[in-house]
Amino acid sequence: MIQLPNRLIAEPQPIKPTQNRFPANSEPPPEQSFRLIDPGTGKSWGYVVVDNTQRGPGLGGLRIAPDLTFQEVHRLAYAMTLKNSAANLPFGGGKSGLIFDPIILNNAPEIKSALISLFAEATFAIDQYISAPDMGTHEDDLQQIHDIFSRKLGTTQHIRGGAGRPTEKGGIPLDDWGLTAHSLLAAIQALEHLDEHFHLRKARVVIQGYGNVGSWTARKLHQAGALITGASDIHMGLWNPEGLDLDLLQSARQSRGGLSSYTGKVIKRFSGANLDWLLEAPCEILVPAARPDAITSKNADRIDCRVILQGANTPINKMTEYYLNNRRRILSLSDFIVNVGGVIGCAVELKMGVEDTYKERVQKQGLREYVESLIHSTISRNVEEIFARLKGRGSNDAIFREEALALARERLTSQPREIWL
Ligand code: NAD
Repeated sequence: MIQLPNRLIAEPQPIKPTQNRFPANSEPPPEQSFRLIDPGTGKSWGYVVVDNTQRGPGLGGLRIAPDLTFQEVHRLAYAMTLKNSAANLPFGGGKSGLIFDPIILNNAPEIKSALISLFAEATFAIDQYISAPDMGTHEDDLQQIHDIFSRKLGTTQHIRGGAGRPTEKGGIPLDDWGLTAHSLLAAIQALEHLDEHFHLRKARVVIQGYGNVGSWTARKLHQAGALITGASDIHMGLWNPEGLDLDLLQSARQSRGGLSSYTGKVIKRFSGANLDWLLEAPCEILVPAARPDAITSKNADRIDCRVILQGANTPINKMTEYYLNNRRRILSLSDFIVNVGGVIGCAVELKMGVEDTYKERVQKQGLREYVESLIHSTISRNVEEIFARLKGRGSNDAIFREEALALARERLTSQPREIWL
């Protein structure tokens, strides 16, 4: 029997400067953080972190996970600050989370709706946070939050209630249009433009995590002429140096057994403890699109690619990137620069919701064409600028992430704040 509280409240948390002289991560303390508690029992049900509002209110997804921690929400909110700033969006960084098993919620829609409603009521007062979909939440959940906020505000024209809502309600289908994959494609195309020795045509691509981001990235890179030689999900890794069949991959993905049900030709299959071997398959482009810390000091020596295209958030840490860059000459394109297609879509949706002239302009051009072209231009400009800065340093030892970080931090404070929307 699932027992939800009668009410949740957002209790502000004191912001402590880090006491640790050797912190494991480099996130600065957030501007605001809240614990979502049941006032009856004091039990924590989740967190909201508004990391930084220098560019605007903190925009970032609502995650539902059974083992969610404050540190995870904080880390993701900081990543959103970097993403939104680097993409020159008029938003800061934020993130929220509820501690619950999303699998239980998938089978109990009325419980999910009650939980989302408790979240919306508790977070309405946090006027510097804007939600979006993340793991465990979908467009209908965002619409529910938006409806509750609309009732309270007396209007449907507001940005407070979040983005990533259903199309028929004015939303942009972030996942159905593969917008994050679109930004990954744009990054690779920018690289091809900058490096005469790098060609997307016939490039071998290996994708860890054949989910929404991974499968869309496969399709888009394949359409651009690349060969998908490896793919994995939680069940199975598949490898064929002559290329996997995209249609068969897609139907396997939609089947119960996932990629274990792939019926095309493969040279090797990996599963269980050997699943991560796929990351070591030779290729030009390796796309980690599953989970954090896929590439670490444990497998760095065996990674055999030219470019790591970060679909997932934090699939690799900074020290490993230095090692790969300086010892192996493997380029790693940072998550907060290249996997931002989804949040760019959210920003367009929010602006269209409150500015009729902008909405008309976008619709005239065609919504999907407009969003894809904005994603393409944003990512190309950023990748080109980061390479220009690296070149300006005159050393091969600096990594992409360093200059990307500098760029994102400068745009947090630059006056007047440039907006590319
Ligand atoms: P998803 O749930 O649709 O797909 C994840 C895939 O990874 C699934 O196929 C799963 O089976 C697979 N997987 C899990 N563990 C694995 C493992 N150990 N080895 C191989 N495969 C494994 O999720 P998604 O929306 O595609 O997101 C993937 C990653 O991209 C996440 O890290 C997410 O935070 C990040 N991301 C997503 C978006 C977005 O728009 N969806 C935007 C930016 C970043």
